[in-house]
Amino acid sequence: MATTGCSKWAIAVHGGAGVDPNLPLERQGGGNAPPPCLAAGIAALQSGEPAVDAVELVVREMESDPFFNAGRGSVLTRNGTVEMEASIMDGNGRLCGAVSGVSTVKNPISLARLVMERSPHSYLAFQGAEEFARQQGVEIMDESYFITEANVSMLKLAKQANSILYDYKVPDTFGVSAVLMNGLPIAIYAPETVGCTAVDKYGRCAAATSTGGLMNKINGRIGDSPLIGSGTYACRDCAVSCTGEGEAIIRATLARDVAALMEYKGMGLKEAVDCAIKEKLDKGFAGLIAVSAKGEVAYGFNTSGMFRACADEDGFMEVAIWE
Ligand code: ASP
Repeated sequence: MATTGCSKWAIAVHGGAGVDPNLPLERQGGGNAPPPCLAAGIAALQSGEPAVDAVELVVREMESDPFFNAGRGSVLTRNGTVEMEASIMDGNGRLCGAVSGVSTVKNPISLARLVMERSPHSYLAFQGAEEFARQQGVEIMDESYFITEANVSMLKLAKQANSILYDYKVPDTFGVSAVLMNGLPIAIYAPETVGCTAVDKYGRCAAATSTGGLMNKINGRIGDSPLIGSGTYACRDCAVSCTGEGEAIIRATLARDVAALMEYKGMGLKEAVDCAIKEKLDKGFAGLIAVSAKGEVAYGFNTSGMFRACADEDGFMEVAIWE
């Protein structure tokens, strides 16, 4: 594998923009304790593993946690089914893989990686992605494994409100503020998409994003998360993973824009992230995490919050939700 010389490792993870105000305190992290998913990524990078392995590992952990809208716990389509999507990009060589419309694959992010490494293509969807998963021998689960009771209840409420749940929008925007769950408007109650970006000690950047999409979405809807350049991007300079209103992120090609601002305008990572969030999203609501090949981490969002955690080789660590 070609490398870009020695660097400092860094990692950033998000658990979605928007944020459930009822998030149990123990899930909010804080203090010096990294959430388990971040700890796994840190350990991988400390032991010299490539960034692409670290981001896959972290996202796999989050896909197995029903709290997040990815893998187990994915939100439901209008028909009550799951249609999961994921993408991964290795900036070292600009390799990428993506999947959409998978409903039985335990870890969609690992299937995306297999598309990247073992197929002649970059993106497989629906039946073709499921067939490829079986050919590759990945872990397959019954569809019931992914569907949680909380999501079934939330789908009912979403249907009553005739709303797709944009968890990152203020409820009134969708006219669903009267629909409450535990006293909270359901539009801010939805579980969250996950993503991870990392740079390893050789300066190789990678990004991974995984989601069930939006609650009550039309079957067949594809969001930003599997789209390289929109929800996920990595190159020689940086790696980016986005979350939020997929349609707005797609219009802004948000992840690629951060890289392009660095590449063509010579901006630093933080400046590029701020510019992309403030100037490229139009009226959309979204957030993103990013790392640079120099070992910097940055994030930005224009939602009420974004679950995020980051760490770097110098001992910096942050676990945060709100601004
Ligand atoms: N961006 C995801 C989508 O639109 C949702 C999210 O990030 O919460 O599918």
